[in-house]
Amino acid sequence: MPQKPAELFLAVPPVWELSFQNLGIPTVSAYVRQCGFRVAGRAELNIGFQHYMVGRPELDLALVEDEYQRLRATPYYRETYEHRFDSFFSRMQLPFGYSELVSCNYETLLPFLQDERVNIPLRFYRERGIADELADASPGYTRVVGMGIDGENQLLGALTLAIEIKKRNPEVLIALGSNWMSAMIHILVEEHDLLAAVDFLVPGKGEVPLRILLEKVQEAGGKPEGPLPGIRVNQGDRFTEPLDCDTHVATAELPRPDLFDLRMYGRPNVLPYESERGCYWGKCKFCHHIMHYTHAYNSKPIDKVIGDLRAYEAEFPFRVVAFVDAAMPPRRAREIAERFLEENIDKRWAAFCRIEKSFTPEILELCARSGLDVISYGVETASLRLSTFIGKPMQKEVAYRVMKDTADAGIYTTAGLMNGLPSETQEELDELWEFLDRIKGFSYLHPHVFKFERGSEYFENAEMYNLEIIPAPPGMRLSPYRDFIDHNGGTTRPLLVDHSVNKRWWKSNMEGRSLDWKMQSGNFCKGVQVIVDK
Ligand code: SF4
Repeated sequence: MPQKPAELFLAVPPVWELSFQNLGIPTVSAYVRQCGFRVAGRAELNIGFQHYMVGRPELDLALVEDEYQRLRATPYYRETYEHRFDSFFSRMQLPFGYSELVSCNYETLLPFLQDERVNIPLRFYRERGIADELADASPGYTRVVGMGIDGENQLLGALTLAIEIKKRNPEVLIALGSNWMSAMIHILVEEHDLLAAVDFLVPGKGEVPLRILLEKVQEAGGKPEGPLPGIRVNQGDRFTEPLDCDTHVATAELPRPDLFDLRMYGRPNVLPYESERGCYWGKCKFCHHIMHYTHAYNSKPIDKVIGDLRAYEAEFPFRVVAFVDAAMPPRRAREIAERFLEENIDKRWAAFCRIEKSFTPEILELCARSGLDVISYGVETASLRLSTFIGKPMQKEVAYRVMKDTADAGIYTTAGLMNGLPSETQEELDELWEFLDRIKGFSYLHPHVFKFERGSEYFENAEMYNLEIIPAPPGMRLSPYRDFIDHNGGTTRPLLVDHSVNKRWWKSNMEGRSLDWKMQSGNFCKGVQVIVDK
């Protein structure tokens, strides 16, 4: 028998996406429950915070999952969630530049943490009794509160909550994990003052380390002494180095994630689902996905995929399955299409894919018949040399053919493009414009500027690729991005860290071309709409 049982309470801190949920916390929740641990609760504080910010006190209950039943009965809830996506966002406009506040100079973040005038999450937690609830461990249990940080905007919310919980109950243990935290861990472990209320940092895939952590907490009857497998333990003046830990869980063994109610989000009809972990290609040097998957790519058995979707059908009235797999190979697309058709699964679906010549007209037509509505292709560049250099070789003729066949099959087709890649020349950029002028059938363009990002092969082995990291400017120390000097003779790189410059760059370069385009309001990353020969 454990000395004192451990329980887990999971939280999504503000400020994050409104349109869909990250699968990290739902997956961890299901996994630790499967391992026999108690999950005392899950709080979607991001959505709760957004409601708080629009000044609707009656919606303070959008905090803990059980409370959503009550929320759904309110007229405002029905009004909001039965509206279309656009109106959801217009309602959620924050009253002032909060995102600027939270991503402000992190060197001054520490004094923010206890300052109610500027720390809006602090007011939110106090007024809504959130910290009280999270600090209230079940009688006889040691509570571990786990928070996922997927973007820098969540850091303030997470650290503030950690402090508030500790003030109320110092016995509660705080663990931070997820993507952004993993990318930034080498910097965060130096931030002793900022992270004083945090007990554990859990980088990478968190299921196994969290399970081990709960076991160790039980054995110790409280905070275990470090070091621990896969986890960095705060020992006051330092974080311990993690012991080796095999974090791999075969996708076949991963339980169906405990999703938050889809109806809270901006796309209430869309079910996010991960059918594979890692990327079957996994060679793109600019891609940080690789960082989070230290083990081999693995694909859920198709029976499990179908079983999970059937089970979700009984819970949520979703119409679309958004496969959030890093890149879906043609083989998996075919498998899903065949099973959807065989079993009369009446859903639309969407996927991210790499351009592959094995996306034949026959597969694409099969996929379209089964409900595939959207393929987002990661095209990146039109140059064979550059695409090979970045680890994602692609022949233009194949891209033309695949994208045209996709559109001809009736699938809404989008292309992700990048400029400013290491070694890119002006001629290669001109080739990109020619490519866009010539390509037929795609309907949406997601332009990006290459970001030199922690966790990517380029960043982690910069010297090997003739890239020189420029030290962080003031206020950017806790950013996963850095500027860099390209010693490969690249000539087209615009400024990287300034998104308004990037936006202007794409806009000015699109002007005067034969593309009928318009910028989507307010969010460069959501893309520029391009309608070509529809
Ligand atoms: S960019 Fe896409 S295809 Fe390339 S490694 Fe990353 S996820 Fe895989």
